[in-house]
Amino acid sequence: MPGFEVFGNEERKEVNDVLNSGVLMRYGFDGMRNGHWKAKEFEINFAARMGVQHCQLVSSGTSALTVALAAAGIGAGDEVIIPTFTFVASFESILATGAVPVLVDIDDTLTLSPKAVENAITRKTRCIMPVHMCGSMANLAALKAICVKHNLILLEDACQAIGASYAGKPLGSYGDLGCFSFDFVKTITCGEGGAVITNNKKYFTLADQYQDHGHDHLGSDRGAETHPNLGYNFRISELHAAVGIAQLRKLDAILELQKRNYLIIRKELSKLAEITFRRVPETGVENYSFVNFFLPNAPLAEKAHKALAENGVDACFYWFKNNWHYINGWEHFRNLNSLGRLPSEICSQIKNYNEIDFSNSDAIMGRTISTLVKIGWSEEDVKNRAIKMREAIASVL
Ligand SMILES: *Cc1c(COP(=O)(O)O)cnc(C)c1O
Repeated sequence: MPGFEVFGNEERKEVNDVLNSGVLMRYGFDGMRNGHWKAKEFEINFAARMGVQHCQLVSSGTSALTVALAAAGIGAGDEVIIPTFTFVASFESILATGAVPVLVDIDDTLTLSPKAVENAITRKTRCIMPVHMCGSMANLAALKAICVKHNLILLEDACQAIGASYAGKPLGSYGDLGCFSFDFVKTITCGEGGAVITNNKKYFTLADQYQDHGHDHLGSDRGAETHPNLGYNFRISELHAAVGIAQLRKLDAILELQKRNYLIIRKELSKLAEITFRRVPETGVENYSFVNFFLPNAPLAEKAHKALAENGVDACFYWFKNNWHYINGWEHFRNLNSLGRLPSEICSQIKNYNEIDFSNSDAIMGRTISTLVKIGWSEEDVKNRAIKMREAIASVL
């Protein structure tokens, strides 16, 4: 996920447009801004690239999830289903709205198991939030069918899979709402930023208002705007949006290089009969930001991960023993270590995640290694790296 690798003069030019006018805010100051509306421009371009009607740019991917949940009317006591393998932002955003995160097992797609989702549905379930981890996607058709059957909202977290597609649609555009992050390590970056996309006019209008203190954004006098509903501040600045405009233009070139490098690594690792690859759902096309593969068992995966590091292969992840992406590392969440008191609905409804059996997830995550695909690598670099990887892994088999 290498947006920062291609930061250059194109980004500087866009930022300088903003610096030259001094209007760092996305709203108002019409006379001073020399015609530059960077956040607006990004939203139009991003909606077009994603094939949707609406895009709301916000301050981070976590804000995007929070705003999307709020726009869909999710609040205290509502249950939102998320996977055990994700980033902490999933439960953070849900807790922020007062709703209750319900964690369920993943399958060999490294995303939500539709069967586990079905088993977790209660009268309070309102939303299913698949998280398209490490460049590939959940089985969205199966999840959509569950949503239709139970009248639930499908909210895609596509923060790690921008540019991938499913059933011919860009990831994030298949569900009712889709969220993206443009933090500094994502495929394209704003420095910090995020976006919500949707084809639902009502969700968009509410998201637009909620992320800016409830402003209805009608008329030309910001101070005189009304506030139909309570809101918050999840706004992005013009400086950040400006970086994103230049990065978005580079997205397709980034994806092409990722694919080239991914295929070289995958081909080399395929020579080891013991290695299998993460399952990509039918009709899915990855964004190739990671190569994700399985070792035959957890002890071998841990050894292989160690051997990769010892042989100088950086950017390989063993998520099973990671503080940020798998439930094993989230004791602060499992113990609800909150600074202040949490809403009573959360306290009374949340399950005791210290006791729940996630052996199905463990059986997959324990065997999983992911390697980041960078775009700064030349073809020669990638080939050498791939051979080094194969040899390091072979040494522990
Ligand atoms: C990065 C990320 C987020 C959150 O994005 P921030 O912009 O860092 O807040 C959410 N979900 C996933 C899967 C991510 O990788």
